Amino acid sequence: MTVAHRPPQELLLDYAAGTLAEPLALLVASHLVLCPESRRHVAELEALGGALLESAAPATLAEDSLTRTLARLEASDGRPAPDEATEPPHPSPGDETVPGPLRAYLGGAFGQIAWRRLGPKMAEVPLLTHYYGVKTRLLRIKAGAGAPAHGHEGHEYTLVLQGAYEDELGHYRRGDVSVCDSSVTHHPVADPGADCICLVVHDGPLKFKGLVGRALNRFIRI
Ligand code: ZN
Repeated sequence: MTVAHRPPQELLLDYAAGTLAEPLALLVASHLVLCPESRRHVAELEALGGALLESAAPATLAEDSLTRTLARLEASDGRPAPDEATEPPHPSPGDETVPGPLRAYLGGAFGQIAWRRLGPKMAEVPLLTHYYGVKTRLLRIKAGAGAPAHGHEGHEYTLVLQGAYEDELGHYRRGDVSVCDSSVTHHPVADPGADCICLVVHDGPLKFKGLVGRALNRFIRI
C-alpha cells in the first residue's frame, strides 16, 4: 500500500540533512516508520548528500558525484530503515500503535496518556513545550466530529496516527502528512468509526472563521 499524502520534498531533504528542528524531525521520523516510500526517498537523499560531501573539488562534482550517487542509490534500494526491525513495514488496518520515534515523548499508548480536553469533541497532549513559537501536540478529534474551520498564519504540519479525517484538500489516513500554509482555510472532519489522532506542529497561530470563530480567536489558541 502506498501512502497517498507524503511530506514535500524539501521537508524530507531537510530531514536527511539533519537540519530540521526537533518538532518537525519528530513528525518526519514518525511518518517514515509508517511510509516505506518516504523511507526509500530519504535513503536516496542521504546517499546524494553523502556523495556531495565526498566530492573534494567542486569542479569534479557533476562528473563524479552522479556516477557514485547512482551506484549508491542502487546499493541502498531496499535498505532497511532504522526502525524497520521493530515496526511493521506497512500500516495495517486497525493498527494503532505509537510509532517508535514518538514513544519516548508520550510514555505510553494513546489510551494511557493524559489527554487535556478542548471541549466535548477534542483533546490534546502538548509536546516539546519549550520550543518558543512552535506548537507541537497530539490532537484527538472524536469519531465523526469536526475541528473548527480555520486558516493559518504560519505552517501547519499534520501526521495522522489513528483513524482518518477529511478536509477541503483530501482524505488523510494513518501515515499521511498534510501541510497547510496561509493560503489554506479548512474544516477537518474525522471519519466515523474511530477517534482521529494526529501529531500536529504549528509555527504560527490558527485563525478561526465566522462569528464564533472570531470569539474563539480571542479566547483560545488551539
Ligand atoms: Zn489547519
